[in-house]
Amino acid sequence: MEELKGLAIAGSTGSIGRQTLEVVKEQGGYRIVALTCNSRIDILKQQIIDFQPDYAAVTDEMQAEQLKRELANSRTKIVSGIDNAIDICLDSKVDRVVNAIVGIAGLRPTLRFLEEKDVALANKESLVTGSHLIQQIKKKSHKKVILIDSEHNAIHQIIRANPDHEIRNITITASGGPFWDKDIHFFDNITVEQALNHPTWKMGGRITIDSATLMNKGFEVIEAYRAFPLTLEQIKVLIHPTSTVHALVEFVDGCTFALLSKPDMKLHIQDALYYPARPTNNLPSLNLAELKKLEFIEPDLQKFPCLELAHVAVKMGGTALTVLNAADEVSIELFFMGRIKFMDIPKQIEKELIITPTIQNPSYTDIMETDRQTRTSICSRLNVPLRTIGQRKALIKQVV
Ligand code: NAD
Ligand code: MG
Repeated sequence: MEELKGLAIAGSTGSIGRQTLEVVKEQGGYRIVALTCNSRIDILKQQIIDFQPDYAAVTDEMQAEQLKRELANSRTKIVSGIDNAIDICLDSKVDRVVNAIVGIAGLRPTLRFLEEKDVALANKESLVTGSHLIQQIKKKSHKKVILIDSEHNAIHQIIRANPDHEIRNITITASGGPFWDKDIHFFDNITVEQALNHPTWKMGGRITIDSATLMNKGFEVIEAYRAFPLTLEQIKVLIHPTSTVHALVEFVDGCTFALLSKPDMKLHIQDALYYPARPTNNLPSLNLAELKKLEFIEPDLQKFPCLELAHVAVKMGGTALTVLNAADEVSIELFFMGRIKFMDIPKQIEKELIITPTIQNPSYTDIMETDRQTRTSICSRLNVPLRTIGQRKALIKQVV
């Protein structure tokens, strides 16, 4: 019998975390050793019952205690706090860790995991803010980073099939979110409900708003720039409303390869966990005759300034990328709270990029200090107490 590999999932209760468990349930090959979450113990409880991991962690101590009481007879050891959450993912029985945490909170786990384990990385904020630290650790530990994001997974699959060929450019596609075809005046009064209504993907709250502003695509340009040997000019973005083509790679002879599928993150999670195998699954086939046409549109930067701000930040380098992420993260929370409008998100980010001095080649401490300063700066400008920012989760739950 084939020996099962050990898998840990950090952020198992989120959109990527839950879909990772569905893929493992369907494909087998892995045994779940550790699951972690921030606060959704209702979801974690069911995951513990279904997958019987050795360990589970909840960031919040009170909720961890409650879960312990509810699962008093379980074989799973339940711990609390982020340090213990990281430790259980580094257990000797773990062969690979999936980092599906959202936001800058995922950076330290990524760096720690990579010291000892291969990491399937969904947490794009790690690569955006700390790619140089990731590179330094990878160099020492010889561990792998496997990107879960659909566009980067698509590029990886195409490059794997053409290992020795020189790339002319790549194109990553964006669904364009709910607003790409709306008139510019429509953008003045976009509501939270409208922004959360993504046409093709079902994702967590933050990335759904990032898809509506196209900041998600800006982050993905940075991810691609960090992960593949390409210049910024070689990375293009096109709006493609049906999310059928995930990425295209043009080689120097003018031949372009594309990866097409129905939009479903499970396909990309499956590849990240099982490649070079290509196991059969239950995902539906793509029916091009039904789809009829594949449409591609140049993004309008007046409607989507976040895409341009991502380019500016990556050119500034260093902690400008942390400012980009932190200003975006906190502005989205303020948008959820009704304190700013949709189009104020890029305005706040731009202000912070202008006023914050950039530290090149930042340490982890520099990154986290810049993150804190950026949040404080926006909150004090808008007269919002910083402590209310952490209440975002409750607000998202109200509106989803
Ligand atoms: P989500 O909000 O649905 O889930 C986030 C997970 O992280 C939850 O399990 C939560 O408990 C945990 N978490 C949140 N804050 C934490 C903290 N401070 N400390 C520890 N754990 C914390 O998010 P998601 O949509 O699954 O996205 C996860 C990551 O994957 C993001 O970086 C996102 O950009 C990326 N991603 C998501 C998708 C998608 O389809 N959802 C696609 C590509 C990339
Ligand atoms: Mg993506």
